Amino acid sequence: MSRWEVVIGLEIHAQLATQSKIFSGASTAYGAEPNTQACLVDLGYPGVLPVLNEEVVRMACKFGLAIGAEITPRSVFARKNYFYPDLPKGYQISQYELPIVANGELTIDSDDGERKRIGVTRAHLEEDAGKSVHEGFDQMSGIDLNRAGTPLLEIVSEPDLRSAKDAVAYMRKIHTLVRYLGICDGNMQEGSFRCDANVSVRPQGQDEFGTRAEIKNLNSFRFVERAINFEVERQVDLLEDGGEVVQETRLYDSARDETRSMRSKEEANDYRYFPDPDLLPVEIAEDYIEAVRQTLPELPDAKQARLQESLGVKAEDAAILTIQRELADFFEAAAEASSAPAQTVANWVLGELSGALNRDGLDISGSRVSAEALALLVDRIHDNTISGKIAKDVFEAMWAGEGSADEIIEARGLKQITDTGAIEAIVDKVIAANPGQADEYRAGKEKLIGFFVGQVMKETGGKANPGQVNQLLKKKLSG
Ligand code: ADP
Ligand code: MG
Repeated sequence: MSRWEVVIGLEIHAQLATQSKIFSGASTAYGAEPNTQACLVDLGYPGVLPVLNEEVVRMACKFGLAIGAEITPRSVFARKNYFYPDLPKGYQISQYELPIVANGELTIDSDDGERKRIGVTRAHLEEDAGKSVHEGFDQMSGIDLNRAGTPLLEIVSEPDLRSAKDAVAYMRKIHTLVRYLGICDGNMQEGSFRCDANVSVRPQGQDEFGTRAEIKNLNSFRFVERAINFEVERQVDLLEDGGEVVQETRLYDSARDETRSMRSKEEANDYRYFPDPDLLPVEIAEDYIEAVRQTLPELPDAKQARLQESLGVKAEDAAILTIQRELADFFEAAAEASSAPAQTVANWVLGELSGALNRDGLDISGSRVSAEALALLVDRIHDNTISGKIAKDVFEAMWAGEGSADEIIEARGLKQITDTGAIEAIVDKVIAANPGQADEYRAGKEKLIGFFVGQVMKETGGKANPGQVNQLLKKKLSG
């Protein structure tokens, strides 16, 4: 395998989160009864005219600015002609020679531990097609045109990716970014975020790219990784057996974990692109771009750097906290409300809280414990009211709706025993009850301290301060 270098470029389709379609007023809401959300424009009736939804222009600009790209001052919609039952007009409106966004870039943390720059060639606006429906139809197919005319931003990368893992890292980065910008809901099950992966291999050291295959319509990160890995292996096997890769479109079958040929270059469509005479070119003025720039939120990379540098959060944790804007907001609100170090708060957000969310299948917006409530719990560990271990039980009770950390600590009598006299008495009792272990400890078996701490904690129902117990035990045992 190492004789070969893998080359990948992704074409990501992000469905733009508008209320209405790209060229009509029909709703884009997901899940409606078939064919209830396709108007005459979406159906391509004669005599109707498309009107561009301004919101998609704003969203594309936002994306372009977020990846440091050029916003094309004059972009043009083109007709991509082909026949398919889910495309009543006989053409898809897209952008071809003059896309709205060009020459952007972003960085990924690569598989090999390095930070890599990945070029974004272009991002263009286009409409989605309808859907063929096979389920529930015998010997025929149904057509649902609700999705026809749904706005898409197609984001095309340079062939800069060098492994399946890098491709996934890049796709995740774009996924995070479009959700931060609020331009796409990122819902992959519903098809709001999907990609085509172009894959080729070449001998290490060769400048020229190998022939590529394009794997269509991958709608999960796991499938992207598996489909690429399968495809790389297929191409390498083929080349090592003296064969040749043919340029073609392939489908990934997740049930069999393999890619299969759909159509080859020879049968590929000639789309006869030409500028759509029904639509004016999109002219974007400098002040419009500046106004959009003002609306950009703090971007994921900047937020991650700030959590690390200003709040002292570990790099890995800052990376996870900033994958989702809402999670980062929750963490920041909790860190702000707490007097404990931000890293301690991060541990709780990524530990107990994320665990509970996962267990109950909830998103951070559905958390049963608020940022302020979590902050109070962390403060009670920080000010030695309870131990970290007991705090986990308190957290579970908070999650179950039993009240605030203070209410639960009070109601269950969980306050740490800080009275030295009381702890000393228990320490004496434990040492007296275990003379054999005490002798062994004194003879040098120091790891027995753990046993003694455990005994004292058991006696106190976990309510003694572990640090204090440790100190007292050492003093008494050696004294
Ligand atoms: P097309 O218009 O035929 O789809 P493009 O030139 O627009 O082709 O490229 C589509 C995608 O394929 C881009 O993401 C690009 O980076 C990628 N790509 C192009 N050539 C190769 C190659 N040899 N190997 C892997 N990916 C490639
Ligand atoms: Mg393409």
